[in-house]
Amino acid sequence: MIYFDNSATTRPSPLVIQSVKDCLGDDMFGNPGSLHKLGVKADNAYRAAVSRTAELLGAAGNEIIFTSCATESANTAVNGYMSRNRRSGRTVISTRTEHKATLECLAKLEQSGANVVYVSVGSDGKPDLAEIEKILGMGDCALMCFTLVNNETGSILPIDDIVAIKRRVSPGTAIYLDCVQALGKININLHMTGVDMCSFSGHKIHSLKGVGVLYVRNGCRIDPYILGGGQQSGMRSGTQSLLLAESFKVALEEACDTMEQSYKTVSSINLYLREELRKRGCRILSPDDALPYVLNVAFDSFESETMLHSLEIYDIYVSTVSACSSKAKKVSYVLLECGVDRKTAANAVRLSFSRYNTLDEAEEFISRVDEIYSRFLVRH
Ligand code: PLP
Repeated sequence: MIYFDNSATTRPSPLVIQSVKDCLGDDMFGNPGSLHKLGVKADNAYRAAVSRTAELLGAAGNEIIFTSCATESANTAVNGYMSRNRRSGRTVISTRTEHKATLECLAKLEQSGANVVYVSVGSDGKPDLAEIEKILGMGDCALMCFTLVNNETGSILPIDDIVAIKRRVSPGTAIYLDCVQALGKININLHMTGVDMCSFSGHKIHSLKGVGVLYVRNGCRIDPYILGGGQQSGMRSGTQSLLLAESFKVALEEACDTMEQSYKTVSSINLYLREELRKRGCRILSPDDALPYVLNVAFDSFESETMLHSLEIYDIYVSTVSACSSKAKKVSYVLLECGVDRKTAANAVRLSFSRYNTLDEAEEFISRVDEIYSRFLVRH
């Protein structure tokens, strides 16, 4: 099997699986809120997982909230900030290339009266900084929502420039950053970035589905999304899962330990595939300076889904960025927003890599693509 769909999800690593088994041990099932020794044991282990996670992210322990997924983190951050900080303004700046987890929250905010301004992005997927500065300069901007690494193209946000503009023009505006596709791939030091809230997802870094993280900088106030018993300092009620927190921590530790080597391997895979695919008339849709973990490519003469299923015959797994509904063909809104024409976008396939991929796999991928072209394509 060749799995090039790591931006969709990743396989849990052996160390993560071991950590899950350890957390299922006889004396590890206690409720961290219980006063007896089983509870205390679970609570101590849970706190240790929180503080190690915080340390790896360059944050303080009380700034880290475990959630069920990045979608929950995004919902909590965006809605929670806007409902808590009503006097900071009603304007929100974002782009139309955000993940749906953010876009749907923004659409709901608009319905309740917020003024959401979507700044344009260039063909490299980066937002127009002059537009951001102009809107910030008008005052009334409570929040900006961006993504550090785009999940469809790998485009990297110039976050330092955005933070610098905000500090100069509108220091009171908060920043929410979706860090899902950046986590474990590039160094993230939350206190250094100057952002206020960030979301992360476990299943993108070889942990489990069902765990995410929300970072809220000390001093940034948001309303909680899930109310109840007041766990996690009231920021996310519900009994904490030691197993999920531990699996996230273990996956993050491994990702940080292997980051440099993994980046090198994935870069060589990406470079090789870019060259070989170009030779075959494919169009590379990821920008040149994209994170190498994501490679978006339009295959000449093949619609996305046809290529996906043709590769599947060879046990090779990739993503389409287009989804077919019964009535209309939908193509990636991200690619369209970056100025890719509809016809090219309809042929787009996303390849996404992890530290488990090899150059041998990339070579096999190319030879399978050649087979697919010679077997299935009747050239006119
Ligand atoms: N943000 C980005 C950039 C993503 O790629 C994803 C998942 O595809 C999410 C948010 C949502 O993550 P989760 O599946 O943990 O809710």
